[in-house]
Amino acid sequence: MTDEPGIGARVNDDEARYRLPRSVLPRRYDLVLEPDLDAVTFTGSEAVTLEVVEPVDEIVLNSADLEVGPGRLEGSGGTLEVSTIRLDPETERVHLLLSGTAEPGEWTLHLGFAGKLSDQLQGFYRSTYSDDEGRTHTIATTQFESTDARRAFPCWDEPDLKAVFGVTLVTADGLLAISNGPEIGREDAGGGRVRVRFADTMPMSTYLVAFVVGSLDATEPVDVDGVPLRIVHRPGKADLTPFAAEVGAFCLRYFADYYGIPYPDKKMDMVGLPDFAQGAMENLGCITYRESLLLVDLDKATQPEVATVADVIAHELAHMWFGDLVTMRWWNGIWLNEAFATLMELLAVDAYRPDWERWSQFLRSRAVAFEVDALESTRSIEYPVRSPDDAAGMFDILTYTKGAAVLRMLEQYLGAERFREGIRRYLDEHRFGNTETHDLWDAIEKATGEPVRRIMDGWIWQGGYPLVSARLRDGMVELGQRRYLISGKQDDTVWDVPLLVRTSAGTEPVLIEPGGVSIPVTDDGPVVVNAGVHAFVRVEYDDELLARLTADLRSL
Ligand SMILES: [Zn+2]
Repeated sequence: MTDEPGIGARVNDDEARYRLPRSVLPRRYDLVLEPDLDAVTFTGSEAVTLEVVEPVDEIVLNSADLEVGPGRLEGSGGTLEVSTIRLDPETERVHLLLSGTAEPGEWTLHLGFAGKLSDQLQGFYRSTYSDDEGRTHTIATTQFESTDARRAFPCWDEPDLKAVFGVTLVTADGLLAISNGPEIGREDAGGGRVRVRFADTMPMSTYLVAFVVGSLDATEPVDVDGVPLRIVHRPGKADLTPFAAEVGAFCLRYFADYYGIPYPDKKMDMVGLPDFAQGAMENLGCITYRESLLLVDLDKATQPEVATVADVIAHELAHMWFGDLVTMRWWNGIWLNEAFATLMELLAVDAYRPDWERWSQFLRSRAVAFEVDALESTRSIEYPVRSPDDAAGMFDILTYTKGAAVLRMLEQYLGAERFREGIRRYLDEHRFGNTETHDLWDAIEKATGEPVRRIMDGWIWQGGYPLVSARLRDGMVELGQRRYLISGKQDDTVWDVPLLVRTSAGTEPVLIEPGGVSIPVTDDGPVVVNAGVHAFVRVEYDDELLARLTADLRSL
């Protein structure tokens, strides 16, 4: 089943004051934006196709730092004027009072707006750079995640209110203009300006919309199985782009194959920006990067610098499916969005350059997460999020590293292929839709028959991790657990621990349930608990098992 955006969306009481009313739902935006790079301002107009679900005499949407108006609402039965426009800076909303009641059905909202290009690296913002001759150039670009699309155009700025975006940019001739879709039309707009039209996007969330205008160059497109891939860069930096193009092409193919779904849109531009607050942003088809995380001089860069560029490119491209095609319903899902992209980044980069031993490197960063998560002050990976700001604390090591580690734990317990089957099922079932975290567990559970939701709920809703104990008794290895805390305090938190156990009979997946589990051993060979060290646990052996391991190590 495909989720219909918005329809039947569950809004918890907790969230309600942060969520727009569901009486009016956006289906598509035809957006025209005209930035003036010299005046550092922009004007715009939008025609938003709406589904009015119940009779309304007011339309409420998000807008911040914009002048809004005039507006009108057109439907098959006639036109309603927007008689009063009330901006509410506190809630970042605009209330459009209509001259009459809009009955249920399809309507088009026409709205004009204007704003200043921000200098805060968010919303629609201005960035400047100097070229080798010392001349200053200006770029107008966007960064919308989590809730800054509303600073560029009035919109229903919530991730589950997906819509199609048809973008038109009016710019000074001679500047590069790009957006999510490929350019499909260009005409003279008078006064040295051009009107550039871009193809419709797939239905997607507002935070993934992007436009970039400035003195930038694009490389000739590389054809990646029908998807044109370009690297957009400052003039004079073309020689730093081949690595990004190579990794980008590799990853697009890798993910299309892994996910079993072709790249979901029409083109891919990866844009290096001299002024970018985030590392990179997964705007559909128009990924923006801090320049140093995209462009690389292979003659001068160190291997870790080159590997970091590959990591970031892989991470952002992984999001085109996981995040962009299938999107969290609300911001509590941000951890899964990021943790999963981190897992995919590692898988893809490991496939690209096995000799970099990316997983060994991951274990080193995971060691830091082990320390943080052994503190009593740690948090659970997921937690309830009411306002979008509540999710700001999720962009940390517990999300990216522990989050990716528990996904890796599940993947290795199930086996890479069975895990991938679950991911394919999830993406296929929810494409163009929005999900809760448990939708992923349920899809993997259906694909594998394993109790994935029960296992993973314990790992994401409880902070910390267990110390697994292994004891030999009467030909059985008894595996138990207790929470590991640096303070040494006792705590009765327990988990379902999925891990691999290696004996002389082979390596088997074992689920340590809260009450423990026993496995038979038939000889006096070594028993390795958490073989491959994929599970997010520490292991404590009794003397006999430790002696066997030590003897085994000596024999190597
Ligand atoms: Zn990410």
